[in-house]
Amino acid sequence: MSKFYITNAIPYVNAKPHLGHALELVQTDTIARYHRSVLEDETFFLFGTDENALKNVQSAEEAGEDVKSFVDRHVQIFRDLTKKLNISNDDFIRTTEQRNIDGTQKLWKACDANGDIYTKNYKGLYCVPCEAFYTEKDLVNGLCPEHKKKPEIVEEENYFFKLSKYQDQLLKLIESDELKITPETKKNEVTKFIKSGLEDISISRSRERAKNWGISVPGDDNQIIYVWIDALSNYINALDYGTNGSKFKKWWETDKSYKIHAIGKGIARFHAIYWPAMLLSAGVKIPNEILIHGYITIEGEKISKTLGNVIDPLEPIGKYGLDPVRYYLLRDIPSTGDGDFSYSRLEKRYTGDLANNLGNLVSRVAKLIDSKLTKKLDYRNKFASKRVLNEIEKTQTVYHRKIAQFKLNEALSAIWMLLTFPNGYIDQKKPWKTIDDDPNEFLRTITSITRLIIEVSYLLEPFIPETAEKIQKIFNLKDKIKKWEGTSIIVGGIKPLFPRLEK
Ligand SMILES: [Zn+2]
Repeated sequence: MSKFYITNAIPYVNAKPHLGHALELVQTDTIARYHRSVLEDETFFLFGTDENALKNVQSAEEAGEDVKSFVDRHVQIFRDLTKKLNISNDDFIRTTEQRNIDGTQKLWKACDANGDIYTKNYKGLYCVPCEAFYTEKDLVNGLCPEHKKKPEIVEEENYFFKLSKYQDQLLKLIESDELKITPETKKNEVTKFIKSGLEDISISRSRERAKNWGISVPGDDNQIIYVWIDALSNYINALDYGTNGSKFKKWWETDKSYKIHAIGKGIARFHAIYWPAMLLSAGVKIPNEILIHGYITIEGEKISKTLGNVIDPLEPIGKYGLDPVRYYLLRDIPSTGDGDFSYSRLEKRYTGDLANNLGNLVSRVAKLIDSKLTKKLDYRNKFASKRVLNEIEKTQTVYHRKIAQFKLNEALSAIWMLLTFPNGYIDQKKPWKTIDDDPNEFLRTITSITRLIIEVSYLLEPFIPETAEKIQKIFNLKDKIKKWEGTSIIVGGIKPLFPRLEK
């Protein structure tokens, strides 16, 4: 596949971002960077904000602020976070933008034209934080499973979408992996839910209940489109679906582009069921894959305002630097499962994996080259040890497989396995001895290890891009070496990659 389109879920902007947002952004960014720079796919990475939700209105009211200015202020904080996390998104969409309004109404009209929208008097259990109706069987002890809150009873005439009509088609698409859901455990949960029977869903609410905030139903100003529709359709609206623009044709309506949504487990149903059903109804292509990550806890506790354990991602970044935080989140938290954030483990990773292992190896080898080597390094395969080249290749194979399976943490552990290899190799080869007795053997040892370090820097680029770049600078690399032939390089300046933590 030569084109790759990836989206991050769009958060509500009713509060400041927390570590869970940072985790998702960093994961999505890693996959986007992997496709862009390692596989060299033409890549488009989208992020944005969900602004039409009732939650935003309520939080603005609580803050005593006008909704528009409340939302604008919070959007900026999310935009700033992407810069602080070095997120490589190509576009940022706000669901209040005209392109999102146009696209949402167009999608509505297309579903309507297909006979899938009708009105019905409805009485249901509504969870405001979820912006979703639940049936009794969805609730746990009468409470929303996500928020542990009692849903409100809401009664009004709404527009409905014929979700039930798409039950068999969705099941087939998901079971055959035509719409792939990763990990498998989530796929099973989704198929189980579909098999239990899909009911039609309410897709609008009264202007009054929506507090006059949101996108109008085409042709009916008294009703506002259910927020999930305009939130989900951001994925195509950013590509100018509303105006049938060239980006939409290039990135969405083609089989040449692999389309993937990265999301948290709480919104799996919306993405794996509602969204593809509406696309099928509207005659628009469906995404290829949905990646579902777990939740992050803080020192063993769920992130919650009441517990007061909400960590601003900027806090650990300020203390340890960006790449150590990116590394920690990607390495310590299993990509598809729940994981815990703890400062003590972050420090362990910093000192153990980054400073003592990667950092030490790079400076040890760079200093050897800088102080002992009299000629330039030659990277031709014939000058490198077969054993080392084999180790590199073995790691690359595992690395690609793990990323394709959305096991980013395991891709990183494969790289760190490779990083343990040079220590034994150096001790065995004793370059400080061979430098005088056997200069060719010395050169071979140094060449092989440097080659390993450079290859590691390429593998690390999607995960910790600044560190990868620093390593490449130390070895004076300007461009990626594509063929390891005849390239000679010398060492640039040597500064420790990860300075010792001050106690
Ligand atoms: Zn809820």
